[in-house]
Amino acid sequence: MARQLVIGNWKMHGSVGQVRTVLPELVRAELGSNIAICVAYPYLALAKSLLSESAIQLGAQDVCEFHIGAYTGEVSPAMLADVGCELVIVGHSERRRYFNETSEMAARKVKAALDGGLLPVYCVGETQAQRDAGIARDVIAEELQVLAGVPTSLYAVAYEPSWAVGTGVIATPEQIAEMHAFIKQTLDTRTRVLYGGSVKADNAAQVLATDGVDGVLVGGAALSAAEFLKICSQAR
Ligand code: PEP
Repeated sequence: MARQLVIGNWKMHGSVGQVRTVLPELVRAELGSNIAICVAYPYLALAKSLLSESAIQLGAQDVCEFHIGAYTGEVSPAMLADVGCELVIVGHSERRRYFNETSEMAARKVKAALDGGLLPVYCVGETQAQRDAGIARDVIAEELQVLAGVPTSLYAVAYEPSWAVGTGVIATPEQIAEMHAFIKQTLDTRTRVLYGGSVKADNAAQVLATDGVDGVLVGGAALSAAEFLKICSQAR
């Protein structure tokens, strides 16, 4: 069985100094290739050089849906691969919320990432209002629908209820198991489904032991080497 994947998402945090401090600590821990770290664009090349002796994978937090051209400010899949990225987060709830990214845009990014040889980690999840209204499954089904026709073995899904992302409120094991089962049932039972939303060192073991969890996407807790290493050590 494939090992559980642990992906750290630094979001718009960090600095040259922090990359130079945290990444060597992760490298010294001799983590396997089931661990990835996604730093902001300006730090990717530096991160790659620091990770060069390690199996830890490098990822980006977003990618352009276009391959080349006059798209000021954008970064193509080929550019990410060129600086050593192996995966990319697509459709994160913060991109949907603050940058009006739609599932259709995210689907185009997933396809562009695949063309560029990257593993897309496609994020889905409901808001608190949608959960309260009893439509969480419908929301997820709609977010997944845009990937119809894309082989499910080529991407991973991150179930990240937006009410749990960056809030300190984690979904219960029952909620996680239910939604992961629903996602796998909708796509394919073999689809890799990660959970994301307030995963920390002290709750990671419980999340990673939950049925249907193939890994975790970690935001805030990935900024500290000690905390991230504790989470990684819980992966099976
Ligand atoms: C994330 O950034 O995808 C995330 C889950 O953040 P946090 O762990 O801080 O909730």
